[in-house]
Amino acid sequence: MSFTQFSFDPRIADAIRQIGYTVPTPIQQRGIPVVLEGRDMLGLAQTGTGKTASFLLPLLQRLMLGRKGRIRALILAPTRELAEQIHQTAVDLGKGSGVRSISIYGGVGKHAQVGALRRGAEIVVACPGRLLDHISGGSINLSGVEMLVLDEADRMCDMGFLPDIRRILKYLPGTRQTLFFSATMPAEIRRLADGMLRDPVFVQIEAGVPAKTVSHTFYLASHDRKYQLLLRLLQTTDTGRVLIFTRTKRRTRKLAAELKNQGYRVAGLQGNMVQSQRRRAIDGFRNGQYDILVATDVAARGIDVSEISHVINFDMPESVDAYTHRIGRTGRAERTGEAFTFVTHTDRPMVRKIEGVLKKAVERRTFPDVLRNPTSSGDTPGQGRSRRGRPQSNSRRTRGRRRAGRSPQ
Ligand code: AMP
Repeated sequence: MSFTQFSFDPRIADAIRQIGYTVPTPIQQRGIPVVLEGRDMLGLAQTGTGKTASFLLPLLQRLMLGRKGRIRALILAPTRELAEQIHQTAVDLGKGSGVRSISIYGGVGKHAQVGALRRGAEIVVACPGRLLDHISGGSINLSGVEMLVLDEADRMCDMGFLPDIRRILKYLPGTRQTLFFSATMPAEIRRLADGMLRDPVFVQIEAGVPAKTVSHTFYLASHDRKYQLLLRLLQTTDTGRVLIFTRTKRRTRKLAAELKNQGYRVAGLQGNMVQSQRRRAIDGFRNGQYDILVATDVAARGIDVSEISHVINFDMPESVDAYTHRIGRTGRAERTGEAFTFVTHTDRPMVRKIEGVLKKAVERRTFPDVLRNPTSSGDTPGQGRSRRGRPQSNSRRTRGRRRAGRSPQ
């Protein structure tokens, strides 16, 4: 299987080569022909499956024909990061096609977006809230939209965007092609999809199940020893880029600061940061300035960093869906990854649910000395730290970081 089977315009084929895709992923194999045909699609697929290109490539192909200079494709995404990532992919894949894309989201000034809209584009990638601002301000005209993509619909629902989406739909022509993507399909999402799609082709790619390229391990922990466990793991594991999830913004901030104190190259990513700070954190993580990114679930949506070797759930996610989404950050596009989850006694119900979805028992590991020894390095973030809690010597830290495949600096 190769991309030539889709007979893309040579300019799009060139862009695919340049971006480095050689073999279409399963969702691309099944989704691209559907979209090229102009059919509606319901895609049950998680992030990391290559779904962005599965809709962008045929969309670009179709937009190359016909009228330019008005918005013909609208892509809705739950977070700025995801919107920006889709937009960037549209720019990369659309290079040479003459099709232009604009991203629209809150947290940054409106002025530049209004200017870009005036200059014209065929694709708009938007978060619902800011898009509605532009609609009510009269700076955007959606009457020419022929294609609508709703990405990560379940996450939109979790984030309370359904009323916004319903309002936006009123501004779009009734006759259009609609592509609807979600990693899960609870009843509310099903109803939304039923109301938006006409005779859709259903494409399901391992929905609700974490990627097969990821191996899962539970680390038995106690609430007050998680930080020590994390340090031990970082010191003894051969890691590349590591993404660590915590439950709250505060814990993210604290943990990032603690790891930085230990000499790790780390950034935090949480919802209280302004857009430019988020961008710096994500870009730094992508380009290797940081080895570790500590994040909350919401802030981490849409991070497109394909070389994440480890996802560490410092705090257990609140649902199996959240687990799937977190883990979707590693093992992307056929790469392998490892998922470590810290498990305390209160996490047992979620452990059972995760194993239910994975349909297998997950290996348990433990560091008995870390759990027992109250004087091993560091303290739990948020509880302060005594001098005694620091590692005994720099060489120990250095050794750990060397093992982690990074040179000290
Ligand atoms: P997505 O599910 O759209 O977030 O894509 C996940 C990752 O896979 C991104 O880093 C893409 O750049 C990458 N990707 C998408 N399609 C392919 C492909 N056919 N071959 C290799 N990598 C791909």
